[in-house]
Amino acid sequence: MLPETLPYWTAADEGRLLIKRCKACGEVHHYPRDICPHCLSADTEWLQAAGTGTVYSFSTMGKGEAAYTLAFVTLTEGVTLMSNLVDCDPAAVVIGQAVRVVFKPSDGGHHVPMFTIV
Ligand SMILES: [Zn+2]
Repeated sequence: MLPETLPYWTAADEGRLLIKRCKACGEVHHYPRDICPHCLSADTEWLQAAGTGTVYSFSTMGKGEAAYTLAFVTLTEGVTLMSNLVDCDPAAVVIGQAVRVVFKPSDGGHHVPMFTIV
């Protein structure tokens, strides 16, 4: 884990989803980086995301009890992140599905943002 991402994980443990916004060009990005990937400015700030978004694409891996669903979710703020869809039936998911963030404990010790349908 990079030091620059520590606020992100601390917020996740508190049930808040942070993304980064560049004060130079105004673009948001995720995964959090100190340097804006759009214009390479170091003038970035944390922004608390609403935690809502839509499914851009998804794929269910595995079978039965071991099955899990990976998805690219586009947040309301405009950034897309890869995560898991949880607490829902993958058969009920469609592209463009409205989802909201939920935080799940991970083996890494921090809660990680995942998404469920709304
Ligand atoms: Zn920028």
